[in-house]
Amino acid sequence: MTTSALRPAALDHASSCALELAYLQPGLPISGDVALRLIRCSGEDLPALLAAARAAKENFKPGVITYSRKVFLPLTNLCRDYCGYCTFRRDPGQPGAHTMTPEEVLAVARAGERLGCTEALFSLGDKPEVLFPEMRATLHHLGYKSTLHYLEAMCELILRETSLLPHPNPGLLSAEWIERLAAVSPSMGLMLETTNRALLAPGAAHDNAPDKVPAKRLRTIEEAGKQRVPFTTGLLIGIGETPEDRIDTLLAIRDLHDRYGHIQEVIIQNFRAKPTIPMAHVPEPSAGEMLRTVAVARLLMPNVNIQVPPNLNAPYYEGLLDAGINDWGGISPLTPDYINPEKPWPHLEQLRLRTESKGLQLRQRLPVYPEFLPAVTSKPGLLSEKLQAARDSDGLAKSERPA
Ligand code: SF4
Repeated sequence: MTTSALRPAALDHASSCALELAYLQPGLPISGDVALRLIRCSGEDLPALLAAARAAKENFKPGVITYSRKVFLPLTNLCRDYCGYCTFRRDPGQPGAHTMTPEEVLAVARAGERLGCTEALFSLGDKPEVLFPEMRATLHHLGYKSTLHYLEAMCELILRETSLLPHPNPGLLSAEWIERLAAVSPSMGLMLETTNRALLAPGAAHDNAPDKVPAKRLRTIEEAGKQRVPFTTGLLIGIGETPEDRIDTLLAIRDLHDRYGHIQEVIIQNFRAKPTIPMAHVPEPSAGEMLRTVAVARLLMPNVNIQVPPNLNAPYYEGLLDAGINDWGGISPLTPDYINPEKPWPHLEQLRLRTESKGLQLRQRLPVYPEFLPAVTSKPGLLSEKLQAARDSDGLAKSERPA
C-alpha cells in the first residue's frame, strides 16, 4: 500500500505539495504520482518536503548516519564505453592509463588496513578487453582470461590476505559472474543511473556506451536479486534526464527491491562538470534539484538506505542530512576519489562534527549493511568468517576508528 491510497478523494486534485505531505504515513512509501508532484515542489514547499523526508529517515534508522571507511582500487581504467561525463576512463596509451598489478592491489589494501579501513572498493572500466588488444595482452601476461577473472582473483586475494572486505563495481554482469563474485565479496554494485533510453542517442551522455542500456543494467540488478546478493545501485542526476525520468528510475529500483529485497542502498549521485569531458559545458544539477531528488527517493523508499557522496556536494552536507539520507558512502583516509579526483573526500573529523551538528551520530559500517549480513553469513566459508570477524553486535564495523 502507498500513502496516496490513504488520501481522501477530496484531495485528488489538490495542487499543493503541502497537502500531499500532510497525509504521509510513517514507513509507508508514496506513490509514483505523488512523487512526480513532490519533485517539482516550489521553494516555499521545500522545507515541508525535507521535514517529511527527515522524519521518514528517523523512522527507519533513528539518530545515526553511517559511512564506509574504504580504499579505492581502480583495478583498470581502460573501458570500452565512452560516457560523456567520465574522467576516469582511458584508452590504452593515453596518459594515466593503468591496470593495477596484484602487488599494487595488496599494497594499497594493506595501507588502508593500517588506517582502519574495512572496505576494498574495486572500480573499473567495463570489459576493456573486448575493445582493446592491449588489455587482452595485459590479462594474458597476468594469467587471466578476462577482466572479470582478474577481478575475482583480486577480491579473493584481499579476502585471504587482509581484513578488508571487497565490494566490486565491474559493470554489467551475467548470472554466472554474479554468483562467482558473490563468493568472494559480501556485496557488489552497479549504478542504474537512469532508465531514459534517449541518453543513448548520438551526442547524449550515453552515446557510444553499450553497457549503459537501461534494460541491460536492470537485468544485472534483477539477477543479483534472484541470487539474493546485497546490491548497491543508484541514480546519476543531471546527465540530460528530466525530473520525471528520475522518478521512473527510482520506481524501477523500488520495483526490483519489492520483488527481491536485495537493494541494500540507493546512491543519489550528482553530475559534476569537468573541463576535459565532452559534457564540460552541461549545467550541473542545482542544490535544490539534489535536495528534491534525495527527499523524494527517501519517501518512495522509506526503508531503504539512501546515500549521497559528500565530496560531490560540499558544502551542502547539512541540507542532505535534512533531505533524509542515512549514509555518506565510502570515504577513504588514503586514496583519492578516482572517479572525481578534483573533489577530495571531506576530512572525517569535519564530517563527524557536521553530522553531529544535526543531532546525528556518525558510525562506521561495513560494505554490506547490517540488515543484509545474514544473507552472507548464513553461507559457511571464508567470506562468512571474515564478515563475522569484522562486525560488531550492531552489524557495524568492529574496528571502528574515531572519525
Ligand atoms: S562511467 Fe564507467 S562505463 Fe562509463 S566510460 Fe567511465 S568507466 Fe566506462
